[in-house]
Amino acid sequence: MDGPRVTVWNEFRHEKTHAEVTKLYPDGMHQVIAKVLREAGMTVRTATLDEPQHGLTDEVLAQTDVLIWWGHMAHGEVKDEVVDKVYQRVLDGMGLVVLHSAHFSKIFRKLMGTSCDLKWREAAEKERIWVVEPGHPIADGLGEYFEIPHAEMYGERFDIPAPDTLVFVSWFQGGEVFRSGCCYNRGKGKVFYFRPGHETYPIYYQPEVQRVLVNAARWAAAGSGPQVTFGQRPNPLEKIG
Ligand code: ZN
Repeated sequence: MDGPRVTVWNEFRHEKTHAEVTKLYPDGMHQVIAKVLREAGMTVRTATLDEPQHGLTDEVLAQTDVLIWWGHMAHGEVKDEVVDKVYQRVLDGMGLVVLHSAHFSKIFRKLMGTSCDLKWREAAEKERIWVVEPGHPIADGLGEYFEIPHAEMYGERFDIPAPDTLVFVSWFQGGEVFRSGCCYNRGKGKVFYFRPGHETYPIYYQPEVQRVLVNAARWAAAGSGPQVTFGQRPNPLEKIG
């Protein structure tokens, strides 16, 4: 079976404007993520903010089973009409994997309906990510926990609706905790929020993180469930009365 068709979307601004990020991700973090997914057998394309329609034309969206989203400094520049199209595609069955600072992206906030705000600190501290749902497909191949040696801290309260399934909980050296792997169903679509990925650390090169990205893309991929018809049903399937 062919792997899912994945589009990796990246704002792609830090890599062009901050020297330490350029050094880590010279071609952009979307290219690093795309390579990992291709090596796992997926069909992968990339799209970035500064392309026309942010690289997310109707054609691209129609051919995308899973969209991966990284953004941070330019959420406001993402056009509402593109956000509306991505939103509709999720309701129709496209998977969406939302990474790190994309907790504040327009699309994630629209899908969650809450502020998606959180606490944060940049102190290069250790993060220990615990698997709290070991049978979940997104946890395939992981140990009971894994560690990121230097991370930006995100702390609770994370203002999201309670996840349908919580897969990861992070502990930080400074004492905070965070819901780091959150699964949701929205319409026919599956949404996964995954916390790691601050741009100044080599987090998307870490094998455990790459494993989660592959697992999440497979889990979120559009299924082939029924097309539902809504509305009035004057003719019941069984005779009534
Ligand atoms: Zn960050």
